[in-house]
Amino acid sequence: MGRERIHKEAAAKDGGSHAEETARAVPFELDDQKLDEELRPQYLADVIGQKKVVQRLQIMLDATRKRGEPLAHVLLDGPPGLGKTTLAMALAREMGTECQITSGPALTAPKDVLPYLSNASHGSVLFIDEIHRLPPAVEEFIYPVMEDFRVDIVLGEGLNARTINMRLKPFTVVGATTRSGMLTAPLRDRFTFREHLDFYDDHDLVEIVERNAKKLRTEISPAASAEIASRSRGTPRKSNNLLRWTRDYATVHDTSGHISDAMAKAALAMLEIDPRGLEDQDRRYLRTVVQVFGGGPAGLAAIAHTMNVPPDTLEDEVEPFLLRCGLIQRTPRGRMITPSGISHLSSH
Ligand code: ADP
Repeated sequence: MGRERIHKEAAAKDGGSHAEETARAVPFELDDQKLDEELRPQYLADVIGQKKVVQRLQIMLDATRKRGEPLAHVLLDGPPGLGKTTLAMALAREMGTECQITSGPALTAPKDVLPYLSNASHGSVLFIDEIHRLPPAVEEFIYPVMEDFRVDIVLGEGLNARTINMRLKPFTVVGATTRSGMLTAPLRDRFTFREHLDFYDDHDLVEIVERNAKKLRTEISPAASAEIASRSRGTPRKSNNLLRWTRDYATVHDTSGHISDAMAKAALAMLEIDPRGLEDQDRRYLRTVVQVFGGGPAGLAAIAHTMNVPPDTLEDEVEPFLLRCGLIQRTPRGRMITPSGISHLSSH
């Protein structure tokens, strides 16, 4: 049941003006997950940005469709929120098949993989997120799966052990990783196509913001779209979150719900995102390197420990963008702040 209906029913039951106010205060809204799905590009042609990657995937798709074969295995790497899941789902949709979704840490033992394998129909996609975190036993188990669509199951132990081979329908593994460097060579080699996703430029992000504002039936000024795009850290996921936040802010502050330039600026100021898109955690990272480690070089673990943040979070979510902006540097002896990092800190 939609929220609008729930609130309308509540209003009717109470009959009072307070209930009517509640009904008006919560405008029609799809639930969070549905909204995310609505904003996600469905087909390759809907994907904005990542032009070269999309072009290559399209060729591979057209060729395999012509031959009537399943797609070869694809590995996508890049920071979180850049569209790895989106591309995997779009590939499945383009092939007219389903996409099963799991992740490296969820597959703790070979038996966890079996349900996905038995559900995999001919040509379908199995998306494995964070594939660099597959335990070694699972990784070895999926080698023959990826190579020959065969499962080797060992029954019994010691002298009585015997191996049973099970044949599977050919399907496609799409692996995603934020750390391609952590993948073992044998696993990496089992992917015929490997693509790296890079941060989006502001031009692409503006297009994404404008298209998603339309999907959300929200009017937004060009300057407001540019403002959101420039603070999205090169990431569509972030631009979606900022658009939704700004839209909420506008709904509360302006009866028309229109997102003007001033409205976007005020909404973003409240989130304390600076003009380069840096958030509190990013600035805290820079400050820690300068104030505690004299500008570096400092080891990742030491910085993480001082900030009380898991090293993985820093490596996956904070450092890639700071490196891309040239605010820090990675050297063999550790992380260092750059002159632009220092001047950014002193101005914000
Ligand atoms: P990842 O798997 O790399 O963490 P996702 O595929 O989940 O990232 O993308 C996060 C969100 O960003 C998606 O919900 C989608 O709405 C949006 N998104 C990702 N890539 C694009 C794109 N190329 N164009 C428009 N929106 C995108």
